[in-house]
Amino acid sequence: MLLPISFSFDNTYVRQLGDGFGVRWAPAPAPAPSLLFLNRSLAAELGLESTVLRALEGQVGCDLFSGNALPAGAEPLAQAYAGHQFGGFSPQLGDGRALLLGEVIDRHGQRRDIAFKGSGRTPFSRGGDGKAAVGPMLREVLISESLHALGIPTTRALAVAGTGERVVREQVLPGAVLTRVAASHLRVGTFQYFAARRETERVRQLADYAIARHDPNLRDIDSAPERTLAFFRAVARRQAALLAQWMNAGFIHGVMNTDNMTISGESIDFGPCAFMEAYHPEAVFSSIDHGGRYAYANQPHIARWNLARLAETLLPLIDETPQRAVERATEVLDAFPGWFEAALRRGQRAKLGLVGVEPSASTAGARGADLLDAVDVDPQAEADDALAGDWLDLLHQHRVDFTQAWRFLADEAASSDADAVRASRLRPLFAEPDALEPWLARWRQRLAQCDSQAPAAARPETAAALRRASPWIIPRNHRVEEALAAASDAGNLAPFERLLQALQRPFDEHPDDAPFTKPAPAEVTACYRTFCGT
Ligand code: AMP
Ligand code: MG
Repeated sequence: MLLPISFSFDNTYVRQLGDGFGVRWAPAPAPAPSLLFLNRSLAAELGLESTVLRALEGQVGCDLFSGNALPAGAEPLAQAYAGHQFGGFSPQLGDGRALLLGEVIDRHGQRRDIAFKGSGRTPFSRGGDGKAAVGPMLREVLISESLHALGIPTTRALAVAGTGERVVREQVLPGAVLTRVAASHLRVGTFQYFAARRETERVRQLADYAIARHDPNLRDIDSAPERTLAFFRAVARRQAALLAQWMNAGFIHGVMNTDNMTISGESIDFGPCAFMEAYHPEAVFSSIDHGGRYAYANQPHIARWNLARLAETLLPLIDETPQRAVERATEVLDAFPGWFEAALRRGQRAKLGLVGVEPSASTAGARGADLLDAVDVDPQAEADDALAGDWLDLLHQHRVDFTQAWRFLADEAASSDADAVRASRLRPLFAEPDALEPWLARWRQRLAQCDSQAPAAARPETAAALRRASPWIIPRNHRVEEALAAASDAGNLAPFERLLQALQRPFDEHPDDAPFTKPAPAEVTACYRTFCGT
């Protein structure tokens, strides 16, 4: 069945790369579809008119988002990819339960993929059933909408439809299909798939495609090896920026396999992810991450490791001499920690209210910017890193909630000294508030350097800036679980909808959202485990 409404599809992946890059495949029918979630603002961003939106709220939406009826112009394809999972290489993963429907140009002129997840078995399913359950798909909605509202690049959820089917996991669960929107679904693992088969020509095609899609400015570089290297550098820089944002939000992805790392720099695949509560660099929540490979503090190192795997796929395109290719790729990998640290520092300075202290950005091209990064033009970098590092040490030592601590630092800027002691919500987070004093004094000195006010002065503008940099609301793990349990066990979507509303305005202190701000009791967090949900 074809639907009367549609997106304006323009499917370059299928058209330009063709069948070697995936398998054309149809979604499985759903016996009794229902629409559980529709992202109206995202649908509008994708170019759907309000009349179409209204239609999507009815039967048309059920049919479309369950996979029962394809929109005109969709050319569903199960994409091929490989991946390193927990360090071990699988030469063939691929869309085992996902399908790329096609691409649309959104209202901002950006090309976006529209894809299903949970739409049935494909030739890449191996032993899996190709299905997804309501809980994990609504979880993707909560996490990705939260990241998006926090300003962190992410794939997004357009809709979730219940299928009316039961899927068998540890328990029998209601089935669902997620419709996901992404800048693209190109992964490190997509390159690995062809490199592992020594299909250098296809790696080249993929790189050209990725450049056209994500780094069109690089097409002007005439030398193919230089262009490939510049592309690799651009991917690495996007990942450095993304990882810094994750770290500054206390986000733990949980399964940073190379098939879950995008070329676009968007966060993707929210299985066993979680936000940290009490600050702990070694925090791990995933039930399958026994060795802590994907622990909070390990994430930037893993990102670099994954980028090294991407580099390996590109070596034949970078230089004919393997040794020389390795050297050139290594230059980029060696620059990664510096890019990450600079991005982390930028975010931390915003969260500390240190405005106007960043070295000015280069207006030169990618290469120029790299050179600028390599030179130390930031005399305060070391001192500010120490200030942020000592703050985090304090949170660690006193087991303080990461999100609340950053947020309530604004209270300390809002009022002058005497009031601060009374009004601040920061001090009560510490069992021994006096332990905080020496650090607060240092911080105030540094703020005073930035805005030439006395160290003790109230700084309402700084407080407001801090509140724009550090959210009040994150997806608290126990709140997420509560909402998903109500939806999955009882078909009650109200807690999910209520939590989603709060997550979509994370920086406002809306009084109704107060219940979503509190961490779970420490005992609960200590036992909290996330599951892949596959
Ligand atoms: P993920 O853990 O979701 O990143 O998936 C890793 C790989 O397993 C991908 O190739 C997925 O398509 C595949 N996969 C995960 N769950 C299923 C499932 N229920 N049925 C088939 N394939 C799956
Ligand atoms: Mg995945």
